[in-house]
Amino acid sequence: MSQKFDVIVIGAGPGGYVAAIKAAQLGMKTACIEKFEDKDGNMALGGTCLNVGCIPSKALLDSAWKYHEAKEDFAVHGIGVENVTMDVPAMIARKANIVKNLTGGIAGLFKANGVTSIAGHGKLLANKQVEVTAADGTITVYDAENVIIAAGSQPIDIPPAPVDQDVIVDSTGALEFQAVPKRLGVIGAGVIGLELGSVWGRLGAEVTVIEAQDKFLPAMDEQVAKEALKIFAKQGLDIRLGARLTGSNVAKGEVTVSFTDAKGEQQMTFDKLIVAVGRRPVTTNVLAADSGVTIDERGFIYVDDICATSVPGVYAIGDVVRGPMLAHKASEEGVMVVERIAGKKNQVNYDLIPGVIYTHPEIASVGKTEQQLKSDGVAVNVGVFPFAASGRAMAANDTAGFVKVIADATTDRVLGVHVIGPSAAELVQQGAIAMEFGSSAEDLALMVFSHPTLSETLHEAALAVSGQAIHIANRKKR
Ligand code: FAD
Ligand code: AMP
Repeated sequence: MSQKFDVIVIGAGPGGYVAAIKAAQLGMKTACIEKFEDKDGNMALGGTCLNVGCIPSKALLDSAWKYHEAKEDFAVHGIGVENVTMDVPAMIARKANIVKNLTGGIAGLFKANGVTSIAGHGKLLANKQVEVTAADGTITVYDAENVIIAAGSQPIDIPPAPVDQDVIVDSTGALEFQAVPKRLGVIGAGVIGLELGSVWGRLGAEVTVIEAQDKFLPAMDEQVAKEALKIFAKQGLDIRLGARLTGSNVAKGEVTVSFTDAKGEQQMTFDKLIVAVGRRPVTTNVLAADSGVTIDERGFIYVDDICATSVPGVYAIGDVVRGPMLAHKASEEGVMVVERIAGKKNQVNYDLIPGVIYTHPEIASVGKTEQQLKSDGVAVNVGVFPFAASGRAMAANDTAGFVKVIADATTDRVLGVHVIGPSAAELVQQGAIAMEFGSSAEDLALMVFSHPTLSETLHEAALAVSGQAIHIANRKKR
């Protein structure tokens, strides 16, 4: 007879590993199946996020930022640094070490919580059975009361630029360059393209971003997107909007791409090309034909508000289902599903999932944008406060951008917080906390904020909603 678990999780990314730990904490007999192997052939937990996503990209962004600061910004503070050098292989090795520590940490957490870790490729069969194919081809079938599919996503490849992980790379390859490319092309001005372009741009690459859409960051608040485009252009990022890649040719270690834009057919040559045109859910070969779980035309598993599939006892979370492809969204769905299985009430608030782009300045947002609210016919009051008027930002010589608070014109309830500037991610999180508690702009305005902090910009933007900001001239009068 096959071994039976209360919960089997397929995939150990931030969705799957968090779900597995939570299930074990709630007393369920839990197994988590993971197929990802590190360079040494050992199973690596943590998924895209820990191995080739959030964490390694931020490790490199931070290294690159320190280099940039030493080279460009220290002088303003009266600090002279001669002969600033960089050692790209050392940066990559530092990143690899962080990844190793974190993935090892998950293995430790599995052990501490009693999660059974199973290495291999998992596939959901009928009747909540899960088949696992190990690296040596051995097949084992397990039974489960509940199955959670958390197989994540992978980069989309496009025919005009086939990835060879040498000259043309995806996001994974772009985290492994051993030297700074002189000319770097990036296809796609989305979150990943901008972050990876920033890493290598800060280290000295000439970066050109080719983006098919005419509008920059169309999902972001328009005012923020406009400011971002202005700042990136000033930083020397060459962003070509309305430019669709049509082909590429690799020869002699460089790549010549063809694209069409308003000026017609264009060509550019790069030393490396990063293809960052989005990610697709991993649902091929995860569901047997008779599993009963259904997917849409783009490969996403159909789920309801609580991540239940059409098969009772089978759930799907994270990048394999609708919604933003974000690690924190995946984790919260994992917790929600497991708590529901345990009979608890829990519902992810899909209206309040913050999103961040870790460029410099950072861009972050939570809630609705001004254009969304306008198209929904909601009357709003808006407060904006620039970092240029913040003492703390000035002290840090980091004054680009602003904080924007949007509140309902009738109830004053905060409906959106959008930030471009230093520590945007942290400031937006404060907005998210306030919004989760149903805060009005006035509630935020009445709070005491430490001085001098970047957080004061959120305070002032909340005050500006009703024309009461102190440290700028209010556009709106009380
Ligand atoms: P994944 O993390 O993709 O994990 C799925 C796991 O399932 C993988 O380990 C995979 O090997 C395994 N798997 C798949 N199929 C099977 C199978 N059949 N059997 C066994 N195992 C299987 N998000 C953020 O929130 N913040 C960021 O800053 C951020 N930065 C990013 C930067 C980059 C470069 C990239 C690529 C992504 C970034 N993301 C970021 C997105 C984030 O990584 C994903 O949204 C998140 O990892 C999704 O979690 P998940 O658990 O759904 O899937
Ligand atoms: P994201 O989905 O946020 O990762 O962003 C991916 C970006 O890539 C989107 O803005 C797409 O418009 C863009 N994109 C997709 N295909 C192409 C293409 N062939 N040429 C240029 N940009 C593209």
